[in-house]
Amino acid sequence: MPLVKSVELLVDFLRNGHGRTTLLTGAGISVDSGIRAYRGPGGSYTIRKHRPIFYGEFINDEKMRQRYWARSYLGYPPVRRAESNPTHYAMAALQKMGYISTLITQNVDGLHHRAYAEDLSAYLAPAPIKPKETPDAPLPTLDPSILELHGTLRHAHCLSCHTPTGRDAFQDRLSELNPAWHEFQREVESGTREHKLNPDGDIELGQGVDYADFKVPACGECGGPMKPRVIFFGESLEPLTRRLSEHLVSTSSQLLVAGSSLATFSAFRLVRQAKEQGSPVGLINIGESRGDPLVDWRVGWEGGAGDVFPLVVRELLRDEKQPQVKAEVERMLTLGTVKKVLPGPPTG
Ligand SMILES: [Zn+2]
Repeated sequence: MPLVKSVELLVDFLRNGHGRTTLLTGAGISVDSGIRAYRGPGGSYTIRKHRPIFYGEFINDEKMRQRYWARSYLGYPPVRRAESNPTHYAMAALQKMGYISTLITQNVDGLHHRAYAEDLSAYLAPAPIKPKETPDAPLPTLDPSILELHGTLRHAHCLSCHTPTGRDAFQDRLSELNPAWHEFQREVESGTREHKLNPDGDIELGQGVDYADFKVPACGECGGPMKPRVIFFGESLEPLTRRLSEHLVSTSSQLLVAGSSLATFSAFRLVRQAKEQGSPVGLINIGESRGDPLVDWRVGWEGGAGDVFPLVVRELLRDEKQPQVKAEVERMLTLGTVKKVLPGPPTG
């Protein structure tokens, strides 16, 4: 389908949602911010030999935790610096114009928040974690209406007492404790060391790098081990997040999926839920997706979300009646930086 047809299709879909469309995004949206997608066209892994850490390994094995934090320490600076791209701004504009009621993202980089609001202090403040949420606990109201399904790289927390800490502060503490690694990290940053960045803020190291000397600070309150507030492979969603995601889909009129192959079950489940409740579901993704057989329509073969969304916003902006919103959206359409990463070697 030509690009112009994809734009028309999305414009009609969003108009028919009557302001109650939920948007579900994935790694494909952050590729233009220099953060790699796990899967490329055809669903193959785009990162050779990369196997993400599993939850059980992190919980049960101190050596694996040390290894994770060392790699994460090296991989975090580009994520810390990453900027929202034009697709993030276009999606934020659709929220401001009222076409998207809620955005659910599988990304952990905070770039949807960055595009939506200039003041990020509330987002960056470490939020307390409540691991034993009762099933009847009231659901929180999101402001802005962005749900991070798989958590965020911006915070870490203690596995024992759940005390949270900001990831930036934790990163600086890691630098203090590991001066040799700090030097290595600066070499990676300055380009004198080859590296590859993965979507979870992890980094590929060369052969022969020893993790055994990497020091990870324990929780300042109880001495327990620290974990980033992201959902690992093999880990369940936080109970409140899971309930909230189901609630958001059940109260929306339709679902739009963008930049996701829906490989993770937590995201695929929401598409299945929307179809079971009889809601229209559309999907835009460059490669194949697990949702393809379920959705009402899908586009993306001739151009992904990055090509389509800014054009969709321009089209819908013609109907915008509120001068303040119109001015804000026009400004947002000028924002966003595209930072492409070089494609990796071909994978099977
Ligand atoms: Zn603790």
